Order: sequence, then C-alpha cells, then structure tokens
Amino acid sequence: KRQLLQQLKGKENVTLDGKKIKIYANIGNTSDVGLVLKNDAGGIGLFRSEFLYLENNNFPTEDQQFQVYKTVAQNMGGKKVIVRTLDIGADKQADYFDLPKEENPALGYRAIRICLTQKDIFRTQLRALFRASVFGKIAIMFPMIISVEEVKEIKEFMEEIKNELRQEGIPFADNIETGIMIETPAAAMISDLLAKEVDFFSIGTNDLTQYTLAIDRQNPKLDKFYNAHHEAIVRMIKMVVDNGHAEGIWVGICGELGADLDMTETFLKLGVDELSVSPSMVLSVRKKVRETDVSKL
Ligand code: PEP
Ligand code: MG
Repeated sequence: KRQLLQQLKGKENVTLDGKKIKIYANIGNTSDVGLVLKNDAGGIGLFRSEFLYLENNNFPTEDQQFQVYKTVAQNMGGKKVIVRTLDIGADKQADYFDLPKEENPALGYRAIRICLTQKDIFRTQLRALFRASVFGKIAIMFPMIISVEEVKEIKEFMEEIKNELRQEGIPFADNIETGIMIETPAAAMISDLLAKEVDFFSIGTNDLTQYTLAIDRQNPKLDKFYNAHHEAIVRMIKMVVDNGHAEGIWVGICGELGADLDMTETFLKLGVDELSVSPSMVLSVRKKVRETDVSKL
C-alpha cells in the first residue's frame, strides 16, 4: 500500500471527472519542511508559528523570526507557504507572556486578541514576515477572527508596517496574499462580509467544531460527543465556501477534518479549493481524490 502511495508522487490531485483540488501540508516546525517536500505537497497551508514562541525563553526577535520564515520560504522553492500569525493562549502557554490565569482560556485572551492588544508583538512578527517575503512565496493568515473590524484593523496595521519598511529601504513582496482562519461560528456566519476584505479563507475545523458544539477539544471525556461530521459543521463549511466563491476568493480547510478520507467526497462536492493536512496524509488524500467521481455523487 505504501508503495502504491509512493507512485502518486508527481501526480495531479484530480478526480475521475477532471475536478482539481490543492493539497497542502500543515507544519509546526522548520524541521517538518523535509516531510512536506518528500510527500509532494503543493505548498504549506498552515505553518503554526507558535513553536517560535513556545521554544523560546523570551519573545523571539525580528531577526530570529526572519531567519526561520526565510529558510522555510527558500526551502519550499516557489511553493506557497501560508504562515499563521501567533496563536498563543488557551492550551498554548509561554511563561514570559505573563498571561493571566483565566476561567475559560479557550474563550479568553489568545491569538489575534493578544496581537491586537500588544501591538509590539504583532509588529515584530509582521516585519519579519514581510522581510522574508522576497525569498519565496509567503502568504499570511490570522487566527480566531470574529469580526470585520478586526480584519480592517489588521489591514491598516499592515499598511503602517509596510510604510515603515519602505522608509527604511527594506524590500518586501508587494503581492503578499492575506487571509483569515474561519474557526469561530461568528466568522462563518459573517463570511459573506469577511470575504470582501481578504484574499482567502482557511477553515480551522478543530476550533470551529469546539466552538460550534460547545465542546472543549482537549477534554477526553467529551470525545464521544465531539463530532466533527456534525451537520452544523458541514453546513457552515458549505456556507463559507459559497460566500468565499461569491467574492471570488479561494477557500481551504486546514483543521484535522481536511485529512478525513470519509469527508473528501463531500469537500469536493462543496467545491473546497484546498485541503491542508499533515505531511503524512498528503498522498492518501490524493489517492482518495483520484478515485472520486464528483459527477456521480
Ligand atoms: C483549527 O483550529 O482547526 C486549526 C487548524 O488551528 P489549531 O489546531 O492550531 O488551533
Ligand atoms: Mg485553531
């Protein structure tokens, strides 16, 4: 079976009736890039940048981050690398952030909420990303979005930083794709409005399921209730894809559900443009896509 999968390297992600989909990979560290290439992923659909912060005893500097993003972008050649900005808080804690103890960390001070409050942290990461953008094809996406206002604030802040860099004579790519994760029910429900503001959506089904079903994704006692196939989730995915397409942007899935082979047919039918899965699942998903005939579903 392994050998059969190996034969799929270099092959297209195309269904029997000619429908194509992108299959990218999720990584959480620079050391995963080898696996991404080995498994022939089309790009990196989710680079969880948290490791930079979690493996450090202090805030990673702009240069430290720049080196990491640059290396990944270069190693991926011309392939897209979608870096997700800091998603710390809740289950992911680093002492030096000095985050308050909270009653409901999953509903608390985390991710983009930290970045939009402590802008110095956000600035450092964005500057590093922009600087690295000339060494490959970097795209940026933002986690835990709930409103259009947040997105507008982020866009304004990015412009501010670009101006800074211009004034300093530091080059950056001028066509950096920017997108958001759709991982809160709020974002799914207003995806028609959000779609007017960004270049792409990436659906984070892990958190979207947690927040939609009101089930802590970390509580093993609730495993039997945590149903990522729940009709509510499928309907939200459909809504997000349709709203994204209505504004001409692409829509991907980067949560665990993206690699669920029982869902591949559904995703193809809904018109999902990209699935970002763990590197080891890339070829299995490709196999499933190539065996599917969407016209017969
Ligand atoms: C998600 O929530 O589905 C996701 C991809 O992000 P993370 O698992 O890092 O929260
Ligand atoms: Mg998430």
